[in-house]
Amino acid sequence: MMNLILLGPPGAGKGTQAVRISQKYSIPHISTGDIFRKNIKEGTELGKKAQEYMNKGELVPDNLVIEIAAARLMEDDCQQGFLLDGFPRTVMQAEELDKFLDQRNHPIYKVIDIDVDKEELMTRLIGRRVCRSCGATYHVINMPPEKEGLCDICGGELYQRSDDSASTVANRLEVYNTSTKPLIEYYERSGRIIHIDGGKDQEDVFTDIINAIGDN
Ligand code: ADP
Ligand code: AMP
Repeated sequence: MMNLILLGPPGAGKGTQAVRISQKYSIPHISTGDIFRKNIKEGTELGKKAQEYMNKGELVPDNLVIEIAAARLMEDDCQQGFLLDGFPRTVMQAEELDKFLDQRNHPIYKVIDIDVDKEELMTRLIGRRVCRSCGATYHVINMPPEKEGLCDICGGELYQRSDDSASTVANRLEVYNTSTKPLIEYYERSGRIIHIDGGKDQEDVFTDIINAIGDN
């Protein structure tokens, strides 16, 4: 049972590493941000509510997030483990997640905390591009696609997330410091956390993560 959490500020490389980790351990990659963006695209009520907060770089209220995360974790593909990316983001969410998993006897195995300095986070977020069709992530300088504006994997159109603008990014980083960073201490207390230097090349970051988790 491999229940993992990816923790770290926006732009730390959680989504990038999640793709590799989920392949390596054959566990689903669950991003609450992706779930919200899908709902926005489909015009659902949940999407409309979430968008108000996401546009401003604020967190979506805990009750909404916890509800969608719990629903996703009850799906069949999560019964042998999962990788959470961008959830939990508040102590309240972490407590609710622990309660939910304790009831099922499937506690979190490790929390991977990826750290990157602030200047680099700004550069990464502002230069991020995402495929509209398959969701693959690129960076205009660090990880450019072979053909400008097009996804290497599926040929889809690359776009810039509306919350990756300079002004929203600054707020998201502040929100991280205030609301999410305390989770490092929360998980430190139960000895489940692994600290990873996310400033390295993405290959090296992945190697460090795998070595720290162990070859289960
Ligand atoms: P997060 O999911 O934590 O917000 P992403 O995985 O989307 O972060 O990465 C943010 C941006 O930084 C993307 O454009 C990605 O291509 C780029 N990136 C990710 N990992 C690295 C790395 N190790 N070095 C340089 N750029 C990276
Ligand atoms: P992400 O894709 O992880 O960068 O998330 C994008 C945005 O979705 C965040 O800035 C929040 O507005 C919202 N969001 C995603 N996950 C959560 C969460 N666990 N709690 C609150 N808001 C979230």
